[in-house]
Amino acid sequence: MSDIIQLLPDHVANQIAAGEVVQRPASVVKELLENAIDAGATNIKLIIKEAGKILIQVIDNGKGMSQTDARLSFERHATSKIKKAEDLFNLHTKGFRGEALASIAAIAHVDLKTKQEESDLGTLIKIEGSKLVSHDRISTSTGTSVAVKNLFYNIPARRNFLKSNTIETRHIVNEFQRVALAHASISFSFYHNENEVYNLTSSNLRQRIVAILGKKTNEKLVPINEITDVVEINGFVTKPEFAKKKRGEQFFFVNDRFIKNAYLNHAVTSAFESLLSGGYHPTYFLYLTVPTKSIDINIHPTKTEIKFEDEKTLYAILRSTIKHSLGQYNVAPVLDFER
Ligand code: ADP
Ligand code: MG
Repeated sequence: MSDIIQLLPDHVANQIAAGEVVQRPASVVKELLENAIDAGATNIKLIIKEAGKILIQVIDNGKGMSQTDARLSFERHATSKIKKAEDLFNLHTKGFRGEALASIAAIAHVDLKTKQEESDLGTLIKIEGSKLVSHDRISTSTGTSVAVKNLFYNIPARRNFLKSNTIETRHIVNEFQRVALAHASISFSFYHNENEVYNLTSSNLRQRIVAILGKKTNEKLVPINEITDVVEINGFVTKPEFAKKKRGEQFFFVNDRFIKNAYLNHAVTSAFESLLSGGYHPTYFLYLTVPTKSIDINIHPTKTEIKFEDEKTLYAILRSTIKHSLGQYNVAPVLDFER
């Protein structure tokens, strides 16, 4: 008899975790933007080069990290956001898995620059494929900058399977929009190959939606507001006559986190009933606030799917709230020939 099981070295475990967390450049964008938000940033800048294949950098004015934390942040399961299992059901941060930076650093070249308000000097750490390359004290402003270069440089199979710049950029824009829509009060800017893509100043939700989707959106929005014991619903749906054939402008946020949920999407669509003709989808921006203990976010590494304690009740409340709001706006059914 011989023993054959061994524990994988950390850099291998990190690379495996990266397979789940980092599918494409857009996944890195999401993780870095969320870290900036968790750090309390009020101003966040995203810079990419070549659809994120060459560079993805996020610069924030958040609380920064101490020298020791800067080094620790790249360890697997290293997080400042939860301490015990129960905390998973009382989450007020985007992150909690402590896996993103470790995963990203396993498959890219990463430069981290960070400084806390109370420190004179900040820290600059360079990591390549989980290996620490350098660690210096530098002068820099308060906050954090994470630059991720040459993503998948050590996994040719993944690098070669990246899609065209147009498609990868589309995914990045989608992630950026979701985060920017979830946090209207935060200022965001976004540059691609030195061109400004977005420059969003702190605003209310309506202004943020208009800044992202265009001025014409303003007149299309029907406000949705409802408070019950189990959920608070805020946001907008667009009037039925502006429904589109293509999907993609359906946004659900639960406790300020973008999620996908076909069941709740059905609740919204069905609230429009005869106001929509076949194959048309309403655009919506719906923000559900629920008690943290009534949801489980830890069912998927990218956290875009979550489990609700009572989805049926949410469905019913959502549907009737939207029906009621559409009714109040007195939208008459649109006939097919009017399109
Ligand atoms: P998680 O976000 O799940 O905690 P990450 O790997 O994304 O895991 O980050 C690890 C830790 O590094 C965070 O818990 C946080 O303490 C710190 N960190 C990461 N990014 C930033 C940032 N932009 N500003 C301040 N601290 C950060
Ligand atoms: Mg994180």
